[in-house]
Amino acid sequence: MGFVKSLRCKECGEEFPKAPVHVCEMCFGPLEVTYNYDEIKQSLSREAIEKRGNNIWRYWELLPIDNPPTIGQSVGFTPLIRAENLARALGVKEIYIKNDSVCYPTLSFKDRVVSVALSKAKEFGFDTVSCASTGNLANSVAALSTAGRLKSLIFIPYDLEQAKVVGTTVYGSTLIEVKGSYDDVNRLCNEIAGKFNWAFVNINIRPYYAEGSKSLGFEVMEQLGWRAPKHFVIPMASGSLLTKISKAIKEFETIGLVESNGTKLYGAQAAGCSPISTAVKNDWEVFKPVKNPVTIAKSLAIGNPADGFFAMDVINQSRGTAEDATDEEIVEGIKLLAMTEGIFAETAGGVTMAVATKLIKRGVIPRDESIVLAITGNGLKTQESLIGKVSDPELIEARLEEFEELYEKLSKGGKREDAIG
Ligand SMILES: *Cc1c(COP(=O)(O)O)cnc(C)c1O
Ligand SMILES: [Zn+2]
Repeated sequence: MGFVKSLRCKECGEEFPKAPVHVCEMCFGPLEVTYNYDEIKQSLSREAIEKRGNNIWRYWELLPIDNPPTIGQSVGFTPLIRAENLARALGVKEIYIKNDSVCYPTLSFKDRVVSVALSKAKEFGFDTVSCASTGNLANSVAALSTAGRLKSLIFIPYDLEQAKVVGTTVYGSTLIEVKGSYDDVNRLCNEIAGKFNWAFVNINIRPYYAEGSKSLGFEVMEQLGWRAPKHFVIPMASGSLLTKISKAIKEFETIGLVESNGTKLYGAQAAGCSPISTAVKNDWEVFKPVKNPVTIAKSLAIGNPADGFFAMDVINQSRGTAEDATDEEIVEGIKLLAMTEGIFAETAGGVTMAVATKLIKRGVIPRDESIVLAITGNGLKTQESLIGKVSDPELIEARLEEFEELYEKLSKGGKREDAIG
């Protein structure tokens, strides 16, 4: 089993055999997994995929493992919702939510990348895994390493949301809070990775880890009836998810599972940490790292994004663009999605929703073509961002008259807000 050909440098093209390495020996460029597409084309069909289990491994030929997966067998195949209420609110014809806020087991798309990374780490023979995380990766590495009987040490910035902290320690992982930003945490982890022989999912295992994100793109195309959307709005932290959705579309085209639909990719960031979107908007050749990110979208707060350059490149090649959203707009985005579709997304989802809204209003995304929004995390994990921004509950004594009085008041006051506003 396994169709992986090599690791190839994204800068100079030099090829290397499969190993737990992530940078090119010749030029220090990042390495990417390549596959034998001719062989995959001969053995893989829509019908074969449709008969398989509802998880990311239904696309195993295009994932970088050599043996059946040992970790995360139930991850993925989240719902793709045709969002009719949201379509009416935005005045568009065809919009879909790829709802990874309910990804198994830790309610974010990171479960996709981690199940691939940890299955690969086991193949390489590691017994300890680690990562630098903005929160969701920590949750996923903690849960899946515990289930897979691997030791884990997880590093995060010290100021994350409580649910992301408790949602890591509950599994028994060692969690280390670092006094600094994500970029400080990542720099420290690079030094630690040089000294300790662990599988760092987003450092030495990164080429394999990152491939897991393609599964989100594969699923969207299958769920649309083997068709790529015209417009795809994707949140960006390191920029990896966006580049891998682009790769997923190209791979399905290459092996003949979908026809090219000229899909345009739109990257979404928070205004308080927008190195990639700022560079795209200004048509810069390189992005400027952000020193001190300040945003409620902590899961996206990477000031020096590892795949920033490649994300800019694929956005431009697709003829899409990028945009950012202020904290206020992020909250509005979360509320819009909740009040139209009944989906409670985390702050990263608010970023995606807000950016999509802006681009549609401005006519950048046309109203009569298919649009997919990647909603990547769950709102229950970032409740802090909504305190004081949503209506308070009513409190009454357990007496019928009290309720009747309240109900009268509410009916008169017209207190129920119009969801669409
Ligand atoms: C990590 C993360 C992203 C972005 O991931 P990259 O691949 O680093 O760009 C998006 N949404 C959520 C909820 C995340 O946790
Ligand atoms: Zn190279």
